[in-house]
Amino acid sequence: MTVEYERRGPVAVVTMNRPEYRNAQNSAMTYALDAAFTRAVDDPEVKVIVLAGAGKHFSAGHDIGTPERDVDVSFERKAVLWWDHVGAEGGDQRFARESEVYLGMCRRWREIPKPTIASVQGACIAGALMLAWVCDMIVASDDAFFADPVVRMGIPGVEYFAHPWVLGPRAAKEVLFTGERFTAQQAKEWGMLNRVVPRADLETETMALAEKIAVMPRMGLALAKKAVNQAEDLMGLRSGMDSVFGLHHFAHAHNAEMSGGDSLGGQDARSMRDASS
Ligand code: ZN
Repeated sequence: MTVEYERRGPVAVVTMNRPEYRNAQNSAMTYALDAAFTRAVDDPEVKVIVLAGAGKHFSAGHDIGTPERDVDVSFERKAVLWWDHVGAEGGDQRFARESEVYLGMCRRWREIPKPTIASVQGACIAGALMLAWVCDMIVASDDAFFADPVVRMGIPGVEYFAHPWVLGPRAAKEVLFTGERFTAQQAKEWGMLNRVVPRADLETETMALAEKIAVMPRMGLALAKKAVNQAEDLMGLRSGMDSVFGLHHFAHAHNAEMSGGDSLGGQDARSMRDASS
């Protein structure tokens, strides 16, 4: 299974399960995650949802190079009402696909009406930041490291552009301009993380936090979550992200125009990994 689902009392644990590819997210994983979250929302026994990654790493980001990369596969669309990207070409294809599986899905998951906690160890790179950021809280182990290196592709950050809101403007610029890894401790100082714990304690600390939240009433939690999300949107999160999504697609299109169709600026999974390690 690409995604494992387990209920432990009032807590649903959703685990990305492609450890052999550092949990790189292909579309099969995206839709499996969506199904798991839907199951947790529909189960009245579930009060809190934990998102974790199996193995050494939380996630290396979007799948741009494994044998199970599935950008040309159709799935039943869930996030936006738009035509299927399969069969479309150029910017039409990219805009349709990324509106659905990246920006749309992340926004859909941010609105899950139950508290979500990301439990992060090892790599949390680029598209993986999006997954951690849509969760309400993030608990990271002290070995966790983070980066959004996509400026190397000529692209101004990953599709779910929450950087200035979760990092603050100056840290956001540093992270984007350098593309370098930053540590869990650094992320905590920038306000991106709730807790940094020893690797051996990550699961128990995450579950302890989830169980503490789980005693609160469901409706109170849902409304408190909505309240903070609405405040973030009033601080420009949603509209800012919409405008940057346009810049993001301009960058993809520019890359493709300059290189005969390669929207990733000549980079692939290997070159990106080599440059940022
Ligand atoms: Zn993109």
